[in-house]
Amino acid sequence: MIRLEKVKDMIIDGRKIANKIETNLIKEVKKLKQVPVLVVILIGHNPASEIYVSKKQQACEQIGILCKIYRLPISTSQQKLLQLIEKLNKDKKVNGIIVQLPLPAKFDRNTIVYSIAPWKDVDGSNPINLGFLEIGQPLFIPPTAAAVLETVKYTKVQLKCLSVCLVGYSSLVSKPLVPLLIDLGATITICHKNTKNLIKHTKEADILVVAAGVPKLIKASMVKKGAIVIDVGINRQGKKIVGDVDFENVKKKAKFITPVPGGVGPITVVMLLRNLIQAARIYPVK
Ligand code: NAD
Repeated sequence: MIRLEKVKDMIIDGRKIANKIETNLIKEVKKLKQVPVLVVILIGHNPASEIYVSKKQQACEQIGILCKIYRLPISTSQQKLLQLIEKLNKDKKVNGIIVQLPLPAKFDRNTIVYSIAPWKDVDGSNPINLGFLEIGQPLFIPPTAAAVLETVKYTKVQLKCLSVCLVGYSSLVSKPLVPLLIDLGATITICHKNTKNLIKHTKEADILVVAAGVPKLIKASMVKKGAIVIDVGINRQGKKIVGDVDFENVKKKAKFITPVPGGVGPITVVMLLRNLIQAARIYPVK
């Protein structure tokens, strides 16, 4: 049974948490000698990516970060893109670089992402940064994983001796979470698309983190009573956005639950900005 220091709202308001963190980040930005600069590279016209990029830009403006968007046509070659990243890596006025994913199919995602200099890799995807994370000395925690940790922090639950079930095992979410959660004392179960009898694992979990990209994958029957349920999924169903959890039914059983939208998503954006401020601190622009 989870012991809570102080019971808060059981539906976790990610926007509220994000606003609170933003207030602190504004103070951090003011302490820097120069306005930090984030470059976002956006290739082609993916409507979802356009929305994510504009949210990042708005969030940057709100806290005093300069966000430069490089919009490249889909006809851009991989070589040209790599040359641009190399130029930005060397540009002393740029603190952080992100390439908006997903990339059009003709690009090799890993070659592109890994070409970003580790000290400007504010998405934390470079193998060097993932290695630092693995040894317990993270430089940049991938923003979605950091948002999951902030969500857990909000509940004030102590992870020591608790069981966490991660549904989905991608490099954006669960892979970076594993060493971080273990360091906090949790015991982890990892599930993926080839896991047999998913319910057997999810039902045991004190904390269930779902990032599978399957709408309403997690039903109430799959959740332990009193669990903390963190839904990372963002799925489009017509004009609606839904998560990976059957929210309306699961909320009746959960101690805490994140909604979609308005849960992990807004926190993820501010975690990216936190990384950018960290980048500006360790490698100030000249
Ligand atoms: P991905 O496709 O890289 O990985 C999906 C993972 O889920 C894989 O490990 C796969 O094996 C597993 N999976 C798929 N079907 C499953 C099933 N039926 N049962 C158990 N496991 C299953 O996806 P991703 O990039 O990690 O994204 C996952 C979801 O999270 C998507 O909906 C995405 O939009 C969302 N997402 C949200 C944020 C955010 O900020 N909230 C950030 C990144 C991704």
